[in-house]
Amino acid sequence: MLHQRDRLDWVLRKEFGVSYVQAPPARGYFFARPHEHHWASPNMAAFLDRLSEEWAARHPAHPFGLGDISLRNGLAPPVHHTHILGSCVDIYVIHSAGHASSLDDDRVDERHRAAFGAKESDIYEPDYDRERTKELARLICLHLLPDFPMVQFLCDDPEVQAVHEKIRPSKRNDHRDHFHIQLGEAKEARRKK
Ligand SMILES: [Zn+2]
Repeated sequence: MLHQRDRLDWVLRKEFGVSYVQAPPARGYFFARPHEHHWASPNMAAFLDRLSEEWAARHPAHPFGLGDISLRNGLAPPVHHTHILGSCVDIYVIHSAGHASSLDDDRVDERHRAAFGAKESDIYEPDYDRERTKELARLICLHLLPDFPMVQFLCDDPEVQAVHEKIRPSKRNDHRDHFHIQLGEAKEARRKK
């Protein structure tokens, strides 16, 4: 007998051709949020795979933190209601010391928050690796954007925004420590037909 969530998986696959993929351990990123929050649409999974490989080839000692995507079945992680259908991902900024791995999710979040300093100021912590973070944004926009069109790319660092016109500040100014990226899934759906 199917569990309810397996049944939901099955219905999504059958009716909509959607099945979610759990982002595997990879060279270019580490898990900065619980692994149960890392279920991606096929398009998002392909994007992260490409990004991970290309980033690891350039900066093997500075993987990026993989934040929330979606829960299994494409549901939103707790208090993260925009992250549905596996088409949004949070990517944490790069630290100069590099982070190779983390199992301590809360601490990593804290550390990343600290990297951007107080909300009202532009004083950034010295271990915020702005140059590498900008390079990561550049890689995403200039190199991957043609294959993976984006609906939204939020980041509150003005220097990161200067990398590409697609990158915007967030309304509540709460994207100081991570990128929020939403991929367009329409292309993927069309490819399937
Ligand atoms: Zn987000």
